[in-house]
Amino acid sequence: MGLPMVAHRLRRDLGDAAVITDPVARRTYECVGLTPYRCTPGLVVWPEDAEGVQAAVLACREAGVPFVARGSGTGPSGGALAEAKGALPGTDVGLPQADRALPEADGVVIVTGRMRRIIEVDLPNRRAVVEPGVLNLAVSDTVGPTGYFYAPDQSSQRMRSIGGNVAENSGGPHCVKYGFTTQHVSGLEVCTPDGDLVRLGVGKAVRSPGYDLTGVFIGSEGTLGIATKIVVKLLRAPESVRTILAAFDSIDRAGAAASAITTAGVQPAAAEIMDTLAIRAAEAVVDRGYPAGTRAVLIVELDGPAVEVEAETAALTALFAGALALRTADDPAGRAAIWKGHETAVGRIRRDHPVGSISGESGVGDHTSAKLPSMFSVDDLATTQDDLATMQLVRRAFDPGNRANPGKVFPTPRLCGERSPAALAPCRTGERIRGAG
Ligand SMILES: Cc1cc2nc3c(=O)[nH]c(=O)nc-3n(C[C@H](O)[C@H](O)[C@H](O)COP(=O)(O)OP(=O)(O)OC[C@H]3O[C@@H](n4cnc5c(N)ncnc54)[C@H](O)[C@@H]3O)c2cc1C
Repeated sequence: MGLPMVAHRLRRDLGDAAVITDPVARRTYECVGLTPYRCTPGLVVWPEDAEGVQAAVLACREAGVPFVARGSGTGPSGGALAEAKGALPGTDVGLPQADRALPEADGVVIVTGRMRRIIEVDLPNRRAVVEPGVLNLAVSDTVGPTGYFYAPDQSSQRMRSIGGNVAENSGGPHCVKYGFTTQHVSGLEVCTPDGDLVRLGVGKAVRSPGYDLTGVFIGSEGTLGIATKIVVKLLRAPESVRTILAAFDSIDRAGAAASAITTAGVQPAAAEIMDTLAIRAAEAVVDRGYPAGTRAVLIVELDGPAVEVEAETAALTALFAGALALRTADDPAGRAAIWKGHETAVGRIRRDHPVGSISGESGVGDHTSAKLPSMFSVDDLATTQDDLATMQLVRRAFDPGNRANPGKVFPTPRLCGERSPAALAPCRTGERIRGAG
């Protein structure tokens, strides 16, 4: 039935305001955090709940058109871009914006921005159930007064959606102690690419038998369906938190100090190094007051019982004896001011240098998918293909029609060896896959 019929059906089911067809309005969604890549989606839908997402996915299935979930649209790997038909996005990135031939997509962008309810906070079980459009920081802001917090905290966490965090398995400065999103999500409600609303994981239980399908979904970058509800774990806020900034005259000294922390048996809650490029990026926005001669800045956060934080501070002060300057802050405003320099630097560097290697923290998405084979079994091309083919089998089990965020993560069809016929053969969950073993 094509996009016009999808639009017609969704206007009927979700209301006019939830469906954007106007070409100019659709261009709002032509770009994400990976700004040089642009592609105008064929249609944009703003459902307000899980059933609305399901209606959109079902309409896409019946029309045979692809769809992609979009949270806050900030992902620097281009994951939430609709897939272009014809020219690849980004092929003319050297041209001024006005001269670029912007590709159009025949796919639907499903935005979760209206799904921002914190549905339940269950402190006895240390869980909260949230919708995917909820912003990361909103969870901790909501439960903070009760003495709890949600641990995964990307730089600029105030902008990212929990759905995007789940899709990217996001981390952040505190992942050094607390781990990534996958350690803090115990269950999901997901709209599969076939339009079924299913629950994955244990929700509020401690564990359940069987496959860890929540773990499979987390980090899948929108290729296995759309998360419509997320059960996040809440942690008890530590009694004391202290942020320490040490300025060094060389990156080597800062690196040696960072290594010495763990050697001394101190477990920091967070640790980040800013090199000269990052310092320049931060100071270009506002003078951070780093002492003259600073070439590297080490930021370390300690948390835990007050007595432990005091003892660890004394240990770090000794380790950082060669620093040009040392600053500490215990109050939220002072700690935020120290982190602000790092947050600013990350934002500017990601904006000015968006195309890089696969970091693992921002997803593979679009622009780094061609590099994916280099992350697996680099010395053995055959094994690389097996690794990627196995992942494709998982993808096809969830999405036999190849409608959920197609063209992302895997390097098809840009590199040799990318298409395993066995892996790409359409199949249903539970069916034997044609040509596989
Ligand atoms: C300045 C900056 C700093 C950052 N710092 C960090 C950091 O410290 N650590 C880190 O790990 N990452 C970091 N990132 C990456 C960022 O945290 C992730 O890309 C983030 O999760 C994106 O969230 P979003 O809501 O903008 O997602 P979007 O950009 O909208 O989407 C990202 C991907 O998620 C998919 N998706 C979105 N919602 C859903 C859903 N409900 N169900 C299924 N799939 C969905 C999309 O299809 C897409 O593939 C940073 C990014 C920037 C720009």
